[in-house]
Amino acid sequence: MNFNDSEIVASILNTQGYGATRNVEEADLVLLNTCSIREKAEQTVRQRLTTFKKTKQQKPGFLVGVLGCMAERLKSKFLEEEKLVDLVVGPDAYRTLPALIEEAGTGQKAINVLLSREETYGDISPVRLDSNGVTAFVSIMRGCNNMCTFCVVPFTRGRERSRDPYSILAEATDLFERGYREVTLLGQNVDSYYFVDESKDETITFASLLERVAGISPLLRVRFSTSHPKDITDEVLHAMARHENICNYIHLPVQSGSTRVLQLMNRTYTREWYMKKVDRIREILPDCAISTDVITGFCTETEEDHQDTMSIMEYAKYDLAYMFAYSERPGTLAARRYQDDVPEDVKKRRLAEIVALHRGHSHESMQKEVGKTVKVLVEGTSKKSDEQLFGRTDQNKVAVFDKGDLQKGDYVMVKIDDCTAGTLIATVVGRC
Ligand code: SAH
Ligand code: SF4
Repeated sequence: MNFNDSEIVASILNTQGYGATRNVEEADLVLLNTCSIREKAEQTVRQRLTTFKKTKQQKPGFLVGVLGCMAERLKSKFLEEEKLVDLVVGPDAYRTLPALIEEAGTGQKAINVLLSREETYGDISPVRLDSNGVTAFVSIMRGCNNMCTFCVVPFTRGRERSRDPYSILAEATDLFERGYREVTLLGQNVDSYYFVDESKDETITFASLLERVAGISPLLRVRFSTSHPKDITDEVLHAMARHENICNYIHLPVQSGSTRVLQLMNRTYTREWYMKKVDRIREILPDCAISTDVITGFCTETEEDHQDTMSIMEYAKYDLAYMFAYSERPGTLAARRYQDDVPEDVKKRRLAEIVALHRGHSHESMQKEVGKTVKVLVEGTSKKSDEQLFGRTDQNKVAVFDKGDLQKGDYVMVKIDDCTAGTLIATVVGRC
């Protein structure tokens, strides 16, 4: 999401004559787009800021700005405590960047961290940064209304709002016409996408948005992230089943396998409810890959709760999992209500246990592909060899295969011969 926000910022700045560079020496302005989700993310930003110290001393007029969630969370404190920062701009204030840059250029500290109930940047066409020309992100909503107790997002990104579906369709169509072959629809909670088109007296839900984007062309793959287990509907699953180009992949963060902990997290589902959701996905979409996010060591988590997380992972056998030790974030409901009482070494040990368990599941999930013939969208040259290309299967698994006369953006049928922990080794068997 931050990556896509940076593309929106690049587009706003382009209209002011700014271009992007990979070389800091060449830059007049550096903007760091930041994440506050865990303390580690914030530490990384602070370290990064110090690397610009020298350039700042050597180059008069060189400006450094902090964007995103950390800017929103720390507000003017950032300007006071970090002498290296000239601008602080929250996620809903990017349109004011040109004026803020001008202000900062005169030596004043520039800040705008106002959150908005309406801003979606819907009319801004993002400049694709670092693009492979094949896959792109499209934001469909901003903010979050969920209030999971561990999470800082509702405070840093504000209330949930959905982007006008016509601007989403226009952006995806334009990408397709420019040769892109995959869009990922982004939101903190895509299943609660909701737009009322008053002119047509029509309500557009996520399922109907998904179908409309899929309808642009059968050659345009559609992915989405993230689904909240409480909100993903059968309509979405049926839409996925109906359209071959909506990829069989769902990111369904579980966070914990213990109903008691889930309640403390305010996730609003129980262990059993989540398991039924997994069953439902497998029933309607037998080939669907499922990934997840897990937090270990949330406040009051016992060994028994931890075992519940292990057993739900065993049940779901995730294809991919992002696993984290709980990191208390100031201002969140958990920070205010509960004590961060699981010792760091226990959090880390539990994390290591779930990582090890998942490694086995991920290996099984890769092994299951061996022998199959599947369709892959070619995305670029393999990291290991110029003679090989890589692409992704419908289920988001990376496959590598010989280049032949294939191009980025082609669809190709490959037979999976073997696999490593993260890659399928394949042979091209035909064009699509
Ligand atoms: N909107 C998405 C999550 C966005 S944050 C959703 O609801 O699934 C991505 C992940 O970071 C979360 O799913 C959670 O697993 C993790 N996370 C969020 N806050 C955290 C915290 N305080 N400590 C550790 N992990 C956290
Ligand atoms: Fe955070 Fe929960 Fe919203 Fe996801 S759904 S962004 S975890 S509050």
